[in-house]
Amino acid sequence: MKGIAILGATGSVGESTLDVVARHPARFRVVALGAQRNAARLAEQALRFRPEVAALADPDAARELAATLARAGSVTRVVAGDEAMAGIATLPGVDYVMAAIVGAAGLPSTLAAARAGKRVLLANKESLVMAGPLLMRAVAQGGAQLIPIDSEHNAIFQCLPHHAGARSGVRRVVLTASGGPFRSHTREALERVTPKEACAHPVWSMGRKISIDSATLMNKGLEFIEACHLFGLAPDQVDVVLHPQSVVHSLVEYDDGSMLAQLGAPDMRTPIACALAWPDRIASGVEFLDLASVARLDFGRPDLERFPCLALGQAAARAGGLMPAVVNAANEVAVAGFLAGRLNFTGIPEVIESVMAKATTGPIGTIDDVLGADREARALAGEAVA
Ligand code: NDP
Repeated sequence: MKGIAILGATGSVGESTLDVVARHPARFRVVALGAQRNAARLAEQALRFRPEVAALADPDAARELAATLARAGSVTRVVAGDEAMAGIATLPGVDYVMAAIVGAAGLPSTLAAARAGKRVLLANKESLVMAGPLLMRAVAQGGAQLIPIDSEHNAIFQCLPHHAGARSGVRRVVLTASGGPFRSHTREALERVTPKEACAHPVWSMGRKISIDSATLMNKGLEFIEACHLFGLAPDQVDVVLHPQSVVHSLVEYDDGSMLAQLGAPDMRTPIACALAWPDRIASGVEFLDLASVARLDFGRPDLERFPCLALGQAAARAGGLMPAVVNAANEVAVAGFLAGRLNFTGIPEVIESVMAKATTGPIGTIDDVLGADREARALAGEAVA
């Protein structure tokens, strides 16, 4: 029986994780649940899964949660505050940590889980983008295991060999990109895109921030950086192809000319179940693929002129050091500005590019360097949005 902490439990990935976990009560036990402020949903989850601890970053919401659980006679302990996330990620009864907080807010708890030697199921790509070298070092030093949840990286993880020293024959990896809802839009049409349209992804059902990132292709830019860190690859060993059906989740190319791909329905429960059970396989509840119905698989090149965010992500990966943290922070501020109606869709890459040109960059020494770069980039991006 493995004990699980789910950080970001009330979000899209968190809910999918609980769906998979609920299918295997003899295998997994929910020890802790964490979120930001959605007390009503976390209370429902806590009453159903009966974790030892439920945490909310927002203290007022945590008080509301504690009152609701007390009224229902629940024995779940409620803790509050940002630091509570790292606390529940490192509880002794926790074997696996689902890191599914959105954005830079997920960094401290992901790092803490890695240092504590947990199996880290990494959905929070932003923590790896911001602090890749630090997180990978924490994994190695803590004796942790990092299994990617992003469907593309989980596909690559599945296609890579896992016996010792087996990576030498890997030539490159290919990330697939659906292209988002606007892949056929002209530049003029992109200027008029609304937040509601951008949140309606044609294939995947996801949280708002990653939906916007998918529409701008910044999601692929972040994933490009993520792939370099996760798999120890140079940027020119990572390629991106458009694949609108989102059935091939990514590929690994070997020196002998073989390409291995992982296919499946576009449903996050597959990578989640894979990471929970690895190296076993368990049922996830997803629909099985009917290849005859899929009928065709299309591939193409992304258009970096209409979708410059991908090129900005690639440039940040090549620059290395603090630049990915700068891009991540500028993107979070620009996306929030777009969602709030203060920036148009094509303004998102403009803000990021202007911040990249002005921000102080350099090598990553400590977490304070990363947090400093994050703060400065947010301030610059705030000015650019204004
Ligand atoms: P959602 O917006 O659906 O959910 C975000 C979750 O994070 C919520 O539970 C939210 O709590 C919680 N949260 C936000 N800020 C904090 C904080 N400061 N402290 C604690 N909890 C916080 O996001 P998604 O599930 O879509 O995405 C989560 C992560 O997974 C992202 O990094 C995303 O890039 C990645 N990912 C998502 C995929 C998907 O299909 N959705 C696919 C691949 C990767 P509350 O509800 O209380 O606000």
